[in-house]
Amino acid sequence: MKKLALLQLAVLVAVSPHARGWGLKKELLNPSIGRLCLTYKALHSRVLRFRLVQDQESRRLFPPEQMRAEINSALALWSAPMGSLRWRESTGACDLRIEFGPTPAGDTSNGAFTAVDKDCLVVRINRDYVWRERRGLPGNANGDYRWEPFPGLAQLTPNLTVDALAQQRGVAHSRVFWTSYRAFVHEFGHAFGLADTNELLTSQSSPDLCSPGPQPDSVMKTSNYFYLTPDDLEGLRQARKLLRERISVTRLPLVTPSRREPEALEAFSSAEIGSEEWAPRVTNTR
Ligand SMILES: [Zn+2]
Repeated sequence: MKKLALLQLAVLVAVSPHARGWGLKKELLNPSIGRLCLTYKALHSRVLRFRLVQDQESRRLFPPEQMRAEINSALALWSAPMGSLRWRESTGACDLRIEFGPTPAGDTSNGAFTAVDKDCLVVRINRDYVWRERRGLPGNANGDYRWEPFPGLAQLTPNLTVDALAQQRGVAHSRVFWTSYRAFVHEFGHAFGLADTNELLTSQSSPDLCSPGPQPDSVMKTSNYFYLTPDDLEGLRQARKLLRERISVTRLPLVTPSRREPEALEAFSSAEIGSEEWAPRVTNTR
């Protein structure tokens, strides 16, 4: 009887419309920010542009050609559910700017975040950030972990997790977690409009913009995946639905490409982003 009850409960959870834990960024409801969301732009354009900005030290630590491969791979993950959405690199105006550099003054993020600039979304990795792991977790040796380029992108097998890769290679979870590709996969989810679904959800989203059910593990929760989980895919679908419906009601103007050069890396600061910062943080939840 007990097994039957558990089975019934499992089926109930599986078919419940509230079983998913996706959440959308509350800023999507602000038209001036929502129109910069990559999911919104994908409704109007089949080709979007990214720009890679690195200072000299970042280029030394994170080889640009490898970063381009990682960026394209992570963008492909999030773009595949959009149908034929493609990306090209730009050295000028762009839809997504990916920056590497020293920690900006006043930045309290855990080394990476997604923000809104005047005419594009920004994913930032603070190349000098150090995660000081002291929790003594199984399979995750204590120590200091710096950002590193992701090793062996070409050898990634389908549906691989951070945990599984760490075990394969005999390294700590944190060693794989604090790599550029893992960060891209998670941060690009924010650029497509999704919120973290861990304990930060309440500050990033709102009850109207997320499932009230349990929060399953996902890219946007523990960032333990090199693929999109069903929960991430549902979040993307909900972001698309929200933005499409909002467009039909408010008839937002299409985004016109800016001729202004994006801000130089040196000009990037928390103050410049101000209250428009999406405030997501890469949170090492292990
Ligand atoms: Zn996040």
